[in-house]
Amino acid sequence: MRAAPLRASLRTIGCRLNQAETALLADRLKKDGYQLVEPGHPTDLLVLNTCSVTESAEKDCRYLVRRTLQHSPHAFVAVTGCYAQTGADALRRVPGIDLIVGTQYKMNLPDYLPPPAALRKQPAPQLLHTRKIDRDDFVLPGAGDYQALNRANLKIQDGCQFMCSFCIIPFARGRERSRRWGDALREAEDLTARGHRELVLTGVNIGQYTYDGRSLLDLIKELERIEGVDRIRISSIEPTTIPDALLDYMATSPKLCRYLHVPLQSGDDGILQAMNRRYTVKEYVAFVEKAVCRVPDLGLGTDLMVGFPGEGEQEFANTLSVASDLPFSYFHVFSFSKRPGTAAARMTNPVRSATVAARRRTLSELSRAKRLAFYQRQIGRAVKVLFEATDDRGLWTGLTGNYVRLGVMAPTDLTNSIREVVVTGAMDGLAVGHLAGC
Ligand code: SF4
Repeated sequence: MRAAPLRASLRTIGCRLNQAETALLADRLKKDGYQLVEPGHPTDLLVLNTCSVTESAEKDCRYLVRRTLQHSPHAFVAVTGCYAQTGADALRRVPGIDLIVGTQYKMNLPDYLPPPAALRKQPAPQLLHTRKIDRDDFVLPGAGDYQALNRANLKIQDGCQFMCSFCIIPFARGRERSRRWGDALREAEDLTARGHRELVLTGVNIGQYTYDGRSLLDLIKELERIEGVDRIRISSIEPTTIPDALLDYMATSPKLCRYLHVPLQSGDDGILQAMNRRYTVKEYVAFVEKAVCRVPDLGLGTDLMVGFPGEGEQEFANTLSVASDLPFSYFHVFSFSKRPGTAAARMTNPVRSATVAARRRTLSELSRAKRLAFYQRQIGRAVKVLFEATDDRGLWTGLTGNYVRLGVMAPTDLTNSIREVVVTGAMDGLAVGHLAGC
């Protein structure tokens, strides 16, 4: 009798790039014979892809190890990702971890697991870690394994050397590297062959993509030619790395989504300078004005950070004013988190935590209002939606190219179909409409 396959549970904390990497690891483990199980279900192996961007992300990692060992006390626990790189010593002290894999070896994690017959808990964690991170083969052969068909992340870049003073990513992921041209195209082909219709280009600093003299825009044009690629979406991208040619292409391409997520972080020049960001408020505003002028119906998101050292009332007021004046369709609001080893960790003049929480609330409320206003502007338009699934109200929901979540009632299964929808209304977090021609 053949033994039942070993079960593997993969969990991701953090960004879209981590999700892309977890999906590649899932694909590899499946090929190695593991049966993938849903998070929270009994398992023989936990692979935890961690984040170290904030202290609370690190706490989440330790919590997930404990939670998993409660329902699966014999599970082999392998931890990788940014926290495994920057906090390996702390992780060694967390009971129940068997393998810690730093960034340099992250995508080879399956090679370092004991063979299935010998997969059992270890008396002490094995550590695979180097300070130097320089591998260019930062992906696995194969294609990411995603449960939902519609969208898939495509990792095209890793690392960053912009050295923003608050950011631990350059230490966690190393210098900038771009994915090999042919390798990115091959994964895109595999993903579309599996049925994914939208590819989300991900990396740490994807505007810096360059391979053999070819740019991000060149890659987008090549990806568009792949049969089955219906949409390409650029994930978060630094404002100083977006050339006019990319905006112009976005304005005319039927496949490149009219969507940009461009981190601003602060609307105050003194804070931007202390953050070591590469633009002034004036330059950022000029960029946004140009982008919305060149790209009609652009969906524009941003990241804002509150509580950076030295952010007084006036500095925050400046951020609030820029955030409310610019035509953002939403923002993500983050609280400053002191990351050991970064320049900002040595800065004095911290902001009280109650003030940080209040500022975060203020900006989050403004973001909600902006999103609603953006959704309301879509009313009366016919837009294309890539449908995902039904929500708890029975509405089929999906996203437009410019990142509006839209719901319709429909008698047929719309999973993974792109349909034209006439927008008739908008509420908090959802626009509604009906299928065109119905
Ligand atoms: S651009 Fe700045 S914030 Fe973004 S990853 Fe690089 S160093 Fe971090």
